[in-house]
Amino acid sequence: MARILVLGAGLAGLGTAMLLARDRHEVIVVERDSAGPPPPADTDAAWSGWQRRGVNQFRLPHFMLPRWWQEMREELPEVGGALQAVGSCQVNVLEMLPVERRGPLRPGDERFDTVTARRPVLEAVLSAAAEAAGVTIRRGIAVTGLTTDGRTRIPRVTGVLTADGTAIPADLVVDCGGRRSALGSWLQAAGARAPVEERSDSGFVYYGRHFRSRTGEQPAALTNLLHQYDSLSAITLPGDNGTWSVVLATASRDKALRGLREPARWHAAVARYPLVAHWADAEPITGVDVMAGIEDRYRRLVADGEPVATGVVAVGDAWASTNPSVGRGASMAMIQAGLLRDLLRETEPADHDKLARRFDEASTRVVEPLYRATLWGDRHRLAEMAADAAGTAYRTEDPRWPVSKALFAAGLADPDLARGYTSIAAFIATPDEVLGGAGVIDRVLALGMSAPQYPLPGATRGELLAAIA
Ligand SMILES: Cc1cc2nc3c(=O)[nH]c(=O)nc-3n(C[C@H](O)[C@H](O)[C@H](O)COP(=O)(O)OP(=O)(O)OC[C@H]3O[C@@H](n4cnc5c(N)ncnc54)[C@H](O)[C@@H]3O)c2cc1C
Repeated sequence: MARILVLGAGLAGLGTAMLLARDRHEVIVVERDSAGPPPPADTDAAWSGWQRRGVNQFRLPHFMLPRWWQEMREELPEVGGALQAVGSCQVNVLEMLPVERRGPLRPGDERFDTVTARRPVLEAVLSAAAEAAGVTIRRGIAVTGLTTDGRTRIPRVTGVLTADGTAIPADLVVDCGGRRSALGSWLQAAGARAPVEERSDSGFVYYGRHFRSRTGEQPAALTNLLHQYDSLSAITLPGDNGTWSVVLATASRDKALRGLREPARWHAAVARYPLVAHWADAEPITGVDVMAGIEDRYRRLVADGEPVATGVVAVGDAWASTNPSVGRGASMAMIQAGLLRDLLRETEPADHDKLARRFDEASTRVVEPLYRATLWGDRHRLAEMAADAAGTAYRTEDPRWPVSKALFAAGLADPDLARGYTSIAAFIATPDEVLGGAGVIDRVLALGMSAPQYPLPGATRGELLAAIA
């Protein structure tokens, strides 16, 4: 069994650490933020008191997709129980749709189940579960570099260096340091070649607000969690203990909509969307939180067919992160953590070169397509929003975009297609899997291709601008 050092106690770090500790590896997590979580049952303290400067999005809306829940149920069932015990929200994202859209529930619809909570509550539960699983979490330790075997070109990482100059040795370092991870520069400082890196602004800005129910009830969901309108997307996310959040996502270039940062204008805008308005009719527990400048980022530790270093891998946002409005980050991290766990079952950590290559191969084969598909959707959506702002129709040579829009529209009228669309949104099926079903594409084209660009009721751009003027 190996001594594994996980850098970062975020959702990816804690999930990875637990999977590896279950396989009896000695797992140490080092986390820069010094404050630990309150007891998981004290959800109010986690929400309002826990300082986590290392995670910008700590108090921003999060929703755990059915895919994440599937991974948890199968791999870490104790987390599910612990989440349920603290008042997390248990929902079925298909059942949330109006019955006229989805028809009666069917056997198999339980694949749309999930359990979710506000991010601090999730992390407090995961942190306690990790410690119960034997993971050592050391907080208040900032990693500042790597120790290596001294070889240049392809150094082997032998541990990490911390801000106070201490070296912590490890058989394997797992970087879960998030989207701003400094791993690339640490590796280069150790003489390694630069990782392959792609980086660009995702182009979206989020205006989100959390609410608490006056009655303990969640608002009725009248459509899917994410809904597209002229110039913006609205996202309505159930949370734990009678809380939820509402997010308006726009193109960050759309200066005319920047007034959404002001609560009165934000509310005036939300009021113009009949499927969303009632979600904001409750007690706000935050202001309107704004997050922009989020980068799509991808880092690969194999360049030109060779690892840039061995003894180190990256999981979660440190490996790849995207625009978060589709809520896939935590699910992708758990999928990738599972690949690492499986690989360590068949490859000795001491077989450094093989481990580096095979983890890269597995991540590239299994997780990278999920990352690319997310980027694909984001690019089209952003271009569509730019066309909305310019008052033109969005045209693309890529036939998959109009088909994906048609699938949503067709799902408003056909319960099978509602399941197809919701499977993609829940991250439990890919568009190819859904559209490849017998007769599916024909039904999508027949029912959806002539639908309006934005089939749900809501403001036009002109009405939205007037509302927030
Ligand atoms: C606005 C927003 C909303 C999102 N909503 C969702 C959602 O609804 N659903 C979803 O699945 N995902 C969502 N995500 C993505 C999700 O937050 C991440 O994918 C997820 O947290 C996994 O991240 P991580 O653990 O890799 O990194 P992080 O959560 O960023 O954690 C990294 C950790 O590493 C620590 N660290 C960094 N550097 C060092 C160092 N040098 N030394 C020691 N510690 C260090 C940090 O302090 C931090 O604790 C959202 C992201 C954003 C930005």
